[in-house]
Amino acid sequence: MRGTVVTGTDTNVGKSVVCAVLLAALRRLHPDGVRRYWKPFQTGSPPDDDTATVAALAGLEPEESAPPTVRLALPASPHEAALAAGRAIGLPLRPPVAPPETAWVVEGAGGLLVPLSPTATLADAFTDLDLPLVVVARPEVGTLNHTLLTLEAARRRGLTVLAVVVSRPPTDAVRQAIARHGAVEPVLVLPEIASISAAAVDRASARALEDPAWRQVIDRIAGDSPRATAGADLLARDAAHAWHPYTQHGLGVPPLPVVAAEGAWLHLADGRRVLDGISSWWTTLFGHGEPAIAAAIARQARALDHVMFAGATHAPAVDLADRLVRAAPAGLTRVFYSDDGSTAVEAALKMAVAWHARQGEPGRTGILALEHGYHGDTVGAMSVSAESPFTHDYRSLRFPCERVPVPGHGRSEAACLAALDDLLARKGSTCAAMIVEPLLMGAGGMRVTTPSFLRGIRERTARHGLLLIADEVLTAFGRTGALFACGTAGVSPDLLCVSKALTGGTLPLAATLATERVFEAFRSERREDAFLHGHSFTANPIACAAAVAALELLEARGLSRADAIGQRIEKGLAGLAGRPGVRDVRGIGPMRAVEIDDPDGRGYLAGAAARMAAAALEHDVLLRPLGTVVYALPPLCVTDAECDRIALALCAAVRAGTAAS
Ligand code: PLP
Repeated sequence: MRGTVVTGTDTNVGKSVVCAVLLAALRRLHPDGVRRYWKPFQTGSPPDDDTATVAALAGLEPEESAPPTVRLALPASPHEAALAAGRAIGLPLRPPVAPPETAWVVEGAGGLLVPLSPTATLADAFTDLDLPLVVVARPEVGTLNHTLLTLEAARRRGLTVLAVVVSRPPTDAVRQAIARHGAVEPVLVLPEIASISAAAVDRASARALEDPAWRQVIDRIAGDSPRATAGADLLARDAAHAWHPYTQHGLGVPPLPVVAAEGAWLHLADGRRVLDGISSWWTTLFGHGEPAIAAAIARQARALDHVMFAGATHAPAVDLADRLVRAAPAGLTRVFYSDDGSTAVEAALKMAVAWHARQGEPGRTGILALEHGYHGDTVGAMSVSAESPFTHDYRSLRFPCERVPVPGHGRSEAACLAALDDLLARKGSTCAAMIVEPLLMGAGGMRVTTPSFLRGIRERTARHGLLLIADEVLTAFGRTGALFACGTAGVSPDLLCVSKALTGGTLPLAATLATERVFEAFRSERREDAFLHGHSFTANPIACAAAVAALELLEARGLSRADAIGQRIEKGLAGLAGRPGVRDVRGIGPMRAVEIDDPDGRGYLAGAAARMAAAALEHDVLLRPLGTVVYALPPLCVTDAECDRIALALCAAVRAGTAAS
């Protein structure tokens, strides 16, 4: 689409006149061009009829204005007027049929955040249209705040603002404020319109075209949507230089060009919205663009962006450590920062081995791990992860690691714990630690285990002198329904790794929590006893500030929504269990997974994965199956209706995955 949406900072600010001037200018500029006026939501009608007013002022032919999509009698916001009329306004907003080269001038109703329904505002409708905005603002003293709020709301939704239009020349200070705080230039002054008449509007449009700033904006309105152009350009530039993770570039599947994200939704360059059904690899906790976290990041970036954490300290890291220790299972009193899940695991593994050395047992270097476990892609984390296509090429780099079977698919918990007993009896005295993903094993196939299995492991590792490393990189902060999966089992590990949702999913940051007993072994007067490990960005203040804000939100909002999300999705999966080709339907907290048969035994590389992802995308839901396991783990902000959409997408994915299997 090409054109613009003319919105205002509030009602009666002059949007219709600006629309008329733009339409008249478009006619002057391209007399043979196609243009259309459209006010999708008209309230107070009759008698209000902006379509007729603008058509008269801009001298439009009848076919040059599209009728409102929604016309409501009550002179109120569309949401209120719809409620009064017993109607519901649904999105997406579909533009009326028109030639593709049409330059649209779409008029809003009131301001950008005027509600359309309990779940959508005008901004959502405009996001669907993918047109840049012209914001009509008031020139009076005391109204700059409204202008800046409107610009901020637009920016947060990935909406481009072409210009702010006012009816009187602003002072330099106002211009600067709009440029600086609103990130918008230019501020256009509406040419004086002596009387509200078609002739006066036409004269104003001529004067506007003489002004280079106006002319640039009108040219943009007459041209293609900036986002569509930017999207094509982005993909071309991506193909030239970017190297994506876990991606076979030889398949030529273009990535999704994402221009913005809000709540559970990703906004694509072509104007499409896609529901982030797996929280962007389990990172996004509350939803994208959470204002409190964004504000904390901005504040911290201005105050202290970074300082090394060796020999220096700062409030965000100390506050976060304090919060983490208070929230974590009892006994974990020390916080060592790193950058992501893999580095948190590396730190834990090294701490465990070095701890035993400091206890006078340097031979205790072995690590036990669970079958199907996944702990990251750096060499140590990869060594303790299960053998998979991720590790295949790196056998020579991986250190040996003994594996304990996981209950499920015909194996009992007692048999798995007996296997651990056997392993410990044979090798326990040479082992430093056992690492586990408590209750939910993610990348290995969303396998759900029980609290009693975890307790069994804790009891046995303690008995044999192994440290227990709980890798809660996925599970912490509500992903299993509780703050920590260990907490559900009443287990306190010796070391615990967190990352992913720690910053609400906004910035990379990780922490390895340790008990005082572990920490104390590294404290002495000999420098060589210290934990000689770290990263340039250890405890980055901006990331720590984001994490503090995320934990504050978590404390304020609680986690009651986590289980409700899972249950709601599960309702929509009711018909799947027992269906041919479906091996298992399982879940915990907000996560629900469906495992389908794997007749070729290709696991993670199963061809069904791509078919399942494509089927989900047809429903505007982004899922990324783990081979034959398709799952959803959405952010906490998803509504019930969005959960239903996710369930539909999962069902469609399973149909696509099992169709040819
Ligand atoms: N540990 C677990 C349990 C994980 O699920 C992951 C990643 O998915 C990692 C560690 C590695 O985290 P990252 O990808 O941030 O390095």
